[in-house]
Amino acid sequence: MIQVGVNGYGTIGKRVADAVAAQPDMELAGVAKTRPNYEAETAVRKGYPLYAAIPDRADQFHEAGIDLTGEVEDMVMKADVVVDTTPSGIGAQNRELYEQYDTPATFQGGEDPDVADTSFVARANYDGATDEDVDYVRVVSCNTTGLSRLLAPLRESYGVEKARVTLVRRGGDPGQTSRGPINDILPDPVTVPSHHGPDVNTIFPDVDIDTLGVKVPATLMHLHSVNVTLDAEPSATDVRKLLSDESRLFLVPEEAGIDGTGKLKEFAQDTGRPRGDLWENCIWEESISTEGRDLYLFQSIHQESDVIPENIDAIRALLDRDDKQTSMATTDETLGVGL
Ligand code: NAD
Repeated sequence: MIQVGVNGYGTIGKRVADAVAAQPDMELAGVAKTRPNYEAETAVRKGYPLYAAIPDRADQFHEAGIDLTGEVEDMVMKADVVVDTTPSGIGAQNRELYEQYDTPATFQGGEDPDVADTSFVARANYDGATDEDVDYVRVVSCNTTGLSRLLAPLRESYGVEKARVTLVRRGGDPGQTSRGPINDILPDPVTVPSHHGPDVNTIFPDVDIDTLGVKVPATLMHLHSVNVTLDAEPSATDVRKLLSDESRLFLVPEEAGIDGTGKLKEFAQDTGRPRGDLWENCIWEESISTEGRDLYLFQSIHQESDVIPENIDAIRALLDRDDKQTSMATTDETLGVGL
């Protein structure tokens, strides 16, 4: 059993912890938290060993009546691998701790690419993380994951001459009460390209891609308006078939009557998905259109959850435990991805 420690138990960390606990070949060594808030309470209720991320604050947990198993160093020592899900920039500071105990780690998309030996999206470059020299992997951001999953089959089947994507980005996650805008539409960043295109190039260095960002008063999901100029001229039906064969791409059927991200999330909740998570890219099937070599479509990305299966696969790749197909299939089956 692979012992996995999760450092940073927030939006991404708590989902990774639940996903690890669901794997047949992994055990949750514990989760590290900075504060004894409601998430710490939930971790204890789930029976997860809880560690103080900041040792000086251990007393705060005792005062709140929350039992600690130890301090973050103990967790790093015990773990075969750490998933670092701390806020942007903190992961880079934590790397020294992981190095001290020779513990490999996965970092998240808020970190700079140089935090790790390689950036990672399972469908696109799993094998790049299985190399013996790779000890640290960066699972790219939610948007970069979504774009890479889409570009992977398009590249393989048709070739990609150029991708142009406008990302309509949620202002903040539902729990991020201080984020905005509340009543505005912002070019964000106002400069072109946004960082997303260069980030896709950490996965596919050879893809020519321009991205533009817009931020809107929404919390549920991101929405991408995609145009890809292909090397070939497939029909819309061909592309629909190609994309529908991918387990981490969900083609939203016309007859479902899902007209936006609100109903997508409602659908996820109605079908009993944990936290209403949508691990797959949600591509509106009707939007898939072709004009000569130009492909157009809309896809939505659930920012809080699409990177969760990727972190699970990154663990197996990093420890060289399974090949890509086996790992992705196990992850998908245990979480319910593609169902
Ligand atoms: P979050 O703020 O929800 O969670 C981070 C957690 O880490 C919090 O509980 C915080 O208290 C804790 N923390 C802070 N300092 C710490 C430390 N020194 N040691 C241990 N824990 C510490 O953040 P998040 O949204 O889960 O983001 C985590 C990472 O994942 C970032 O790199 C982010 O860019 C990336 N990411 C976020 C999203 C998203 O939409 N939320 C999507 C994809 C990737």
